Amino acid sequence: MTRRPASVTVRVPAKVNVQLAVGGPRPDGFHDLANVFLAVGLYDEVTVVPAEELRITVAGPDAGQVPADASNLAARAAVALAARHGLEPRVHIHIVKDIPVAGGMAGGSADAAGALVACDALWGTGASREELLAICAELGSDVPFSLVGGAALGRGRGELLEPLETGGTFHWVFAVADGGLSTPEVYRECDRLRGDAAVPEPEASPALIEALRTGDAVALAASLANDLQPAALSLRPSLAATLAAGAEAGALAALVSGSGPTTAFLAKDAESAHAVAGVLAASGTCRTVRVTTGPAQGATLV
Ligand code: ATP
Repeated sequence: MTRRPASVTVRVPAKVNVQLAVGGPRPDGFHDLANVFLAVGLYDEVTVVPAEELRITVAGPDAGQVPADASNLAARAAVALAARHGLEPRVHIHIVKDIPVAGGMAGGSADAAGALVACDALWGTGASREELLAICAELGSDVPFSLVGGAALGRGRGELLEPLETGGTFHWVFAVADGGLSTPEVYRECDRLRGDAAVPEPEASPALIEALRTGDAVALAASLANDLQPAALSLRPSLAATLAAGAEAGALAALVSGSGPTTAFLAKDAESAHAVAGVLAASGTCRTVRVTTGPAQGATLV
């Protein structure tokens, strides 16, 4: 009999959407997207150990905002994997949370991907990559990308992934806002602001994909785009001051990360990123500032 590990820990990255093109609402309520994801080096760690029953605990400064029950996406991932393999999800999932909560950086999705990879290793289910990706897609649009990391173009709701080449390291500063924004609410606000205007089919920008491929930060900065930004700014007008502070501090570009309210600043190099972070921290327009790089690896056993 194969020996099972006593505990498994998986590290999972946050993401920033370097392009988020949003189509009109579909009959099922979702939106078709052209979603270019870049994984960045802010990580949650998900540890699983055998337990009498499914249990979830969360540590970290924002742990209080994360549900510690069956509604946690990590718990749902464990339940989904167990069900497919005729197992009971008898596991204690512990999440050390460093990704901002409800910040538009796919923290919950990261935990789901992490729990899936961790439970697969703990239980020896031996799920194929395809099976793990299929479970991820059932759990949420951003979950498959958390599994694969790097850079990728997501189509459909964002779950149909095509990996993208990256030719270098990009330097990012993230300004974390007080409180979160609900992703569904931001989409609703996007639809409301668009009213009856015709919405083009979402298309990935060839210039942006080329900038990722060549590792050209200036070219990437020129093509960053987030269709949800007007909606996030409408729901949280104070984000305009954060974006302006980072841009004035010398960022190549500033944008809202995904559905916000985290804002993202692309810098020329590490030195410039630290300078931008210093100015943002002193600006009083955000709660915390994080400096990191992308691309980062997807869910990884540690
Ligand atoms: P996205 O960028 O994918 O839209 P987000 O980063 O804005 O997501 P999350 O941090 O994933 O947002 O949290 C969204 C909500 O999901 C939280 O308010 C919380 O109630 C719920 N949630 C469920 N599981 C988790 C989890 N493991 N971590 C964080 N939030 C979770």
